[in-house]
Amino acid sequence: MNVFNFDNSYRNLDKRLYSNEFITSSVNPELVLYNLKLADKLGIPQFDYAKYLSGQSFPTGANPIAQAYAGHQFGYLNMLGDGRALLLGEHITPKNRRFDIQLKGSGRTPYSRNGDGKATLYSMLREYLISHAMEYLNIPTTRSLAVIKTGERVLREIEHSGAILTRVASSHIRVGTFQFVAMQQDEKLLRDFTHYTIKRHYPELENLNNTYLAFFNEVMNRQIDLIINWLRVGFIHGVMNTDNVSISGETIDYGPCAFMDIYNPNTVFSSIDKQGRYSFINQGGIGKWNMARFAETLLPLIEINKVNEILSTYDSIFKDRWYRMMGNKIGIENLDNSAYSLIDELLIFLEEKELDYTSFFRDLSKFEDNKLNKSWNQEWKKLNPDKGLMDSVNPAVIPRNSLVEDVLQKAAFFNNFEPFNEFLNVLSTPYLNRDDFYTFNPESVDKSYKTFCGT
Ligand code: AMP
Ligand code: MG
Repeated sequence: MNVFNFDNSYRNLDKRLYSNEFITSSVNPELVLYNLKLADKLGIPQFDYAKYLSGQSFPTGANPIAQAYAGHQFGYLNMLGDGRALLLGEHITPKNRRFDIQLKGSGRTPYSRNGDGKATLYSMLREYLISHAMEYLNIPTTRSLAVIKTGERVLREIEHSGAILTRVASSHIRVGTFQFVAMQQDEKLLRDFTHYTIKRHYPELENLNNTYLAFFNEVMNRQIDLIINWLRVGFIHGVMNTDNVSISGETIDYGPCAFMDIYNPNTVFSSIDKQGRYSFINQGGIGKWNMARFAETLLPLIEINKVNEILSTYDSIFKDRWYRMMGNKIGIENLDNSAYSLIDELLIFLEEKELDYTSFFRDLSKFEDNKLNKSWNQEWKKLNPDKGLMDSVNPAVIPRNSLVEDVLQKAAFFNNFEPFNEFLNVLSTPYLNRDDFYTFNPESVDKSYKTFCGT
């Protein structure tokens, strides 16, 4: 079955980095979703999706492996690895771009620990939906090619249908992968793996004489840009452990993530994040903490003072880009001191008045009376805000918790995919004007909404 154009470079790396032992167990695979547009972009023709994306059979050229990694989970370092995923191979597109094709929920591997290696239909549909939304919100993300029902029952709090998501990523190399490599205490391995990663993601840095530092600097900068994008749309990742931080700068691992409705910087949705470590506002700081863990892995290759110098620029770069992003949200490109104060004041208002983050900014560009005080509005209008700019960065629709829950329940538990597919469609044009069922409805905000990890 020659569908993918596989070239599996990860397989040629050190054997400690992966395992080729795994179990797959789809009994009656059935395709429930397939992203034709993405397939087209990747240059993948139609084929027997259910058979070849369920672990029942492997497409020609696939050479499945589970990747090893480590990671700080809520601050504590653990040995991890793909406990329920298999990298089928690296597909080279007609435009010569390389993408990992990964099955998530395919079964146990040597890294599964106590897990069953499986995933629920509900959570794989959730990842499909939210990663789709992120793509069209113009935020770097892993993509979802397909969801296959396995025909198995998977036991969580309740019984679920089992499912496998086909995930597409520019790679699955994580900060946690570097932590795993560093833990081997083998400088050659670290050097080889670092070169592999640079060649794959940052080839323009390959021949510099300070390649490793430049690499660290680039990863850090992409991480900052990513988190600023999350803050732009009210996204809370929910589990920013170092194993869930991609070296490519893509959003990865959609577990307990969710979008904030009412603006509150301390918002947390994840039921296991009791301390609010990964709250909305903490994401920037955690990004820096994660980059410090990444820097540590590279210490055999770079001078500590030099990497610290780069790391010490994180806060000011972050702050600068955050203000620029917020400036765009209020339609102002060139920030002066009055714009800075307007942004600061605005967030205090939003929090005090418990306003909806998304609809507030979207409606702001209508220049109608809003709930802010007069003097704010006057000062703001003096700066000639740019409506076009505002509407290009402030989405009219996001995957709101109430809508997400509703379409997921119908699809996962009642096999009704119509609302799910319609929502996908709506989320494909988030910056178009809209005022309907999919936009803000104060009655549907669930202030006690909770999300669950790794389900
Ligand atoms: P996550 O919280 O999804 O980032 O997962 C953390 C680690 O737990 C990763 O190594 C996963 O592969 C593993 N894991 C999550 N769910 C399962 C499962 N059902 N079975 C086996 N391993 C799992
Ligand atoms: Mg993970």
